[in-house]
Amino acid sequence: MASTKQLLFLPGPVTVAEPVLTAMTRPLIDHRGPEFKRTLERMSSRMRPIFGTRHEIMLLGASGTGGLEAAIANLVEPGDKVLACPVGVFGNRIASIAKMWGADVEVLDTKWGRGVDQRALAERLRADTNCEIKAILLTHNETSTGVANEMHALATAIGKHPALVIVDSVSGMGATPFMMDDWGFDVVIAASQKAFAAPPGLAMVAVSDRAWEKMEKTRSSRFYFDLRRAREFAKIGQTPWTPPIPIIFALERAIDLYEREGDKKVHARLTLNAHAIHAAVTAIGLRLYSQPPYHSNTVVAIHCPDRVDASAVLQTCRDQGYVLSGGQQQLKGKIFRIGTMGDITRDNILAMLGVFEDAVERQGFAVDLGAGVQAAREAFKAGLHSVAF
Ligand SMILES: *Cc1c(COP(=O)(O)O)cnc(C)c1O
Repeated sequence: MASTKQLLFLPGPVTVAEPVLTAMTRPLIDHRGPEFKRTLERMSSRMRPIFGTRHEIMLLGASGTGGLEAAIANLVEPGDKVLACPVGVFGNRIASIAKMWGADVEVLDTKWGRGVDQRALAERLRADTNCEIKAILLTHNETSTGVANEMHALATAIGKHPALVIVDSVSGMGATPFMMDDWGFDVVIAASQKAFAAPPGLAMVAVSDRAWEKMEKTRSSRFYFDLRRAREFAKIGQTPWTPPIPIIFALERAIDLYEREGDKKVHARLTLNAHAIHAAVTAIGLRLYSQPPYHSNTVVAIHCPDRVDASAVLQTCRDQGYVLSGGQQQLKGKIFRIGTMGDITRDNILAMLGVFEDAVERQGFAVDLGAGVQAAREAFKAGLHSVAF
């Protein structure tokens, strides 16, 4: 029997705080009325500092993937040369979307578990003397491998190359400092259900002036995700299509909580959560899948030892109310993924780690029971001074 209350330690969706959930029960409002207009304008302006942009942030009624598709559909034309820099499943996803829109996609390969090498990217772009590459696809935080790219370094590597830079920051936005405008990024995509800790259903998309100019000329077909239309409506405080109003209420409440805690404290909390989980799993003899210095602070990816049945471990945890994640695609059965985001306390994390240790031990992996929890407790106590991310 599953417990009645489940805590999500997923890389999204995450455990949502009570006030955020309750916000969804508010009576609906007219999405063409004055209150909605004020709400939308407030939210766009409150999200700007999180994105590090002065541009409008549009809300799309979609999951993160809808935001990725919107970016591609509006900017990529058949035959455009696109440089994809995937470091895992989600990087491959946006590359596939670009292919589907007819782009000539070149892949800059990176070994999984690592982030994009700044020098390799700079070198590839230097070789593009005729500026044939029209767009560069980056993933801020690769959820499938627990990897965070060094976005500032990658921005430096791109330098003055004229390609438009499209960034999937779905699981990164809000979790680390981000400076879209200073770093010269053209389209940045986020979603409600990751570090913002709201329910799923909204994608957020910010677009640079350069990218708007290109969108006016792009011939690719699009309708629901026509960002020109989204922009026209944003100007009058509306969305082109009926938006998921309850999710908008929830997201605004989540932004209240985010602002009250403060961005720096949120970043530090997630980093310390990740660090404590690292300490715990290494103390019981497991290895991280991500390689330093690319550890993500929103999702921790851990090698599953050969003799251990990952799905059995996950089931045991789930039965006790702790929902963790496994690997995707070729990493299925090979790794565990533990999310650090959402409304979870240190005690929740310690309890989850105790259950996880136990579950791994039950699979016949020799564990000094309690060692993981103890290491995590010490990490929390030591705070961020000891963290080398
Ligand atoms: C979660 C996620 C997405 C989008 O997933 P949806 O299920 O469509 O919301 C895209 N990219 C990354 C990096 C993600 O973590």
